[in-house]
Amino acid sequence: MDAIASRIIKARQYAAERDQRIHVISFEVRIDGENANHQVSYNRGKWGCDCEESMRRGICAHIMAMEEIMGDTVEPAMTAA
Ligand SMILES: [Zn+2]
Repeated sequence: MDAIASRIIKARQYAAERDQRIHVISFEVRIDGENANHQVSYNRGKWGCDCEESMRRGICAHIMAMEEIMGDTVEPAMTAA
C-alpha cells in the first residue's frame, strides 16, 4: 500500500472513531439567533456565550446547541442553575 492510500485509511479511521480520539481544546463560533447573533466560546472545558441568559445562569440555548453538535469531543457545560 502506498503512503497516500494508508494516510487516507488512517484519516477515515480517526474520523470514524471521533468519540474516543477527538478532544476539542478550544473554539469560537457565531450563532445567528432569531433576534441577534451570539458568540459561543469553549476553552479547555470552560464554556462562554455573550448572551444575557448565559451571563445570569452560566448556560443558554447557544451553548446547549454547540454541546449537542460537538458531542463527546467536549466537556459538558455546567448545568447547575
Ligand atoms: Zn447564549
